[in-house]
Amino acid sequence: MRKIFVAGNWKMNKTIAEAVDLVSKMLPELENFDDVDVAVAPSYLAVPAVAELCKGKALKVGAQNLFWEESGAYTGEVAPQMVAEVCDFVIVGHSERRTYFGETDETVNKRLKAALAAGLDVIVCVGETLEENEAGQTEAVVTRQISKGLAGITEDQAAHITIAYEPIWAIGTGRTATPEDANNVHKNVIRPLLKQQFGDQRANAMRIQYGGSIKPNNAAELFAMSDIDGGLVGGASLTADSFVSIIKGASLVTIVEETSKE
Ligand code: PEP
Repeated sequence: MRKIFVAGNWKMNKTIAEAVDLVSKMLPELENFDDVDVAVAPSYLAVPAVAELCKGKALKVGAQNLFWEESGAYTGEVAPQMVAEVCDFVIVGHSERRTYFGETDETVNKRLKAALAAGLDVIVCVGETLEENEAGQTEAVVTRQISKGLAGITEDQAAHITIAYEPIWAIGTGRTATPEDANNVHKNVIRPLLKQQFGDQRANAMRIQYGGSIKPNNAAELFAMSDIDGGLVGGASLTADSFVSIIKGASLVTIVEETSKE
């Protein structure tokens, strides 16, 4: 069964109290969706309180970044083992980190390796800018980001990796890639690269999320595409109603897919 994976990236939003309030509203609503994997990534300071609430529940908790060194004089940074003490997963390579904080394919690779070594699952983000998209460079950019970002990763490690394809022009803009365009990148660019590196079986089992202005009204049609295995959701994960509606859309797709197989 293809199990859809929806993760909420809260970015630099929600105080600890607000994060606790939001997750408390989400949790009872999420009890009925064991056919969908669901996760949230609050800001660092809110992570322990949210993780405490989610213990034993069907909501995984992650961080939005980490540093690759184990300890030392790196003021302001958080080490992989520190993240792994509290989190199930971590996001690396988000376009906002690439744009505002100097993240490169090489540093994505270092963070990914360190996160895996610490026992974390990882969502690796890739995606092109509007200019690159309009210049027909999507395939080249995503290919570079995947090859360099995942360099040296083994097939076993790949079992812990989700790829999030997030065209930058669609993040927080209300502009969504069409389901067909997004699926084309997942199916014809990303999946073949994963197959090349990890073999068909592993690559087919890896989840490729789409991210970029997913909302309750477009989630189901995106997730219904053959190679869109879930979503990384920013703005719409900041209220319980919209995030839960998106999970409902994912669950509906799963039910339809299972029924059509019978
Ligand atoms: C994101 O932050 O990864 C994202 C896709 O944001 P939004 O859903 O708001 O476009």
